[in-house]
Amino acid sequence: MTAALTPTRPEFGREDVDALVDDLLALLGPRGVSTLDRALDRAARDGSGLSPILSAQDLGRPDAVCYPKSADQVPAIVRAAIRRGVPITARGKGTGNYGQVVPRFGGLVMDMTSLSAVTGRTDTTITAEAGARMVTLEQAAWEAGRQLWMYPSTVQSTLGGFLAGGSAGTGTIVHGRNHMGFVESLDVVFGHEDAEIVHLTGLDAQPLVHTYGVAGIIVAATVRIEPLQQWRCPYVSFDSHHEAFPAARAAGAIAPLPRLLSADRAELVGALPADPALVRDRANVRGIVDAAALDETVAVLEAAGGRVEAVREGLPQTLRVSTLSYNHPTWWLQKAVPDTYFHMEVSGDALVTRLREVEAVYEGGMLHLDVGHGTVFGMLNGVYRSPEQVYAGVPALRALGVSVHSPHQSYVDLDADRVRAIARGTDPKGLLNPGRWLE
Ligand SMILES: Cc1cc2nc3c(=O)[nH]c(=O)nc-3n(C[C@H](O)[C@H](O)[C@H](O)COP(=O)(O)OP(=O)(O)OC[C@H]3O[C@@H](n4cnc5c(N)ncnc54)[C@H](O)[C@@H]3O)c2cc1C
Repeated sequence: MTAALTPTRPEFGREDVDALVDDLLALLGPRGVSTLDRALDRAARDGSGLSPILSAQDLGRPDAVCYPKSADQVPAIVRAAIRRGVPITARGKGTGNYGQVVPRFGGLVMDMTSLSAVTGRTDTTITAEAGARMVTLEQAAWEAGRQLWMYPSTVQSTLGGFLAGGSAGTGTIVHGRNHMGFVESLDVVFGHEDAEIVHLTGLDAQPLVHTYGVAGIIVAATVRIEPLQQWRCPYVSFDSHHEAFPAARAAGAIAPLPRLLSADRAELVGALPADPALVRDRANVRGIVDAAALDETVAVLEAAGGRVEAVREGLPQTLRVSTLSYNHPTWWLQKAVPDTYFHMEVSGDALVTRLREVEAVYEGGMLHLDVGHGTVFGMLNGVYRSPEQVYAGVPALRALGVSVHSPHQSYVDLDADRVRAIARGTDPKGLLNPGRWLE
């Protein structure tokens, strides 16, 4: 977790970038590529500001940014970059929270957000270009009486970015995390000099998911949808999160399973956007619950000491609850109290059963909780002192039975060996988002 990253920098220079920019001007026109500081700075930013450790590092800055307007421009851009030996990093909305979209060695960033068309739908799938926003896909699904299997709390983020860099969110209680089974097919471009769009389906597509753009660039994807359920959004307040957290976990097992259940202690509720249903000085459980399970859910929460503050419904309300889940309470906390907190991603039953000990690991420890697929996830916020203090808490958390993932690193850490093995074939020159390996 504290190991240093010493990746190999691809050999390329200013003249290679200049030649590539000329290629791209010919390909995309003057509005399709930029080397202006404003554009470069924008493409060097992501959600890594959540980590004081990453914020103190120079994560990288591109030399040029390009903006494909049609899917067939993507392989042409990749061919040009690979032939010039210039690294290329795909960028969605730039909300990834670990710096994985920041081009470590510079080179070209390809902004995918103009490729945003929703191109097809069946009863069980929706197809869209990689830059389509998750909220757009959810809206399109609702209009057809369907819902996405899953989407992140960053509802404005892109399909390509969520598949490449995301892992969980609304829908995870039912469908699990890391997009298993979510993707039916992908259109991908590999890092080859003669790159074309490759269509992969089912088990051939799955290995490319969650690979941070290091093994291929997603141009379009077909993902699963399911019949729309009648969702209700209860907001229930508690005297203490020591009552709220076990109650949320218990409610998360009520069938039909909820789409989302989140819980916060009063201090974190106080940092969330003002809302009469988020009562100040009280802990809160909120969620997206099937109408058929609402009465039982409310009964379980009330039996644990909860007080119903509101029950809402409709697409905007479900999206609102989603934007208060996963990393978002940490984001709101850091907005309310700047330059003070860091967080650790944690999971496991101990978050509920050993809550006091878990929060005591860090000074000012405050846990945000999301119910998962047979488990619970959390963001453990604490007062930041130094990287050493952050990492020193990890063994203590593990000793309590908590699984820990550090949001303070920008390398590939999920199945890294498997991803690297794929990338050896799909990116032989190591030019797709390089610098993501621990050497
Ligand atoms: C406050 C906050 C809350 C968050 N909540 C969640 C959450 O609930 N669940 C969750 O999973 N994540 C969450 N995240 C992380 C992130 O927002 C999501 O994973 C998001 O879906 C990423 O999409 P993006 O379009 O912003 O991707 P980006 O940040 O632009 O990119 C993410 C990674 O994917 C790669 N990439 C982007 N587009 C492509 C493409 N077309 N082809 C190949 N690679 C590509 C990038 O190179 C980068 O490595 C959160 C982050 C923040 C800051």
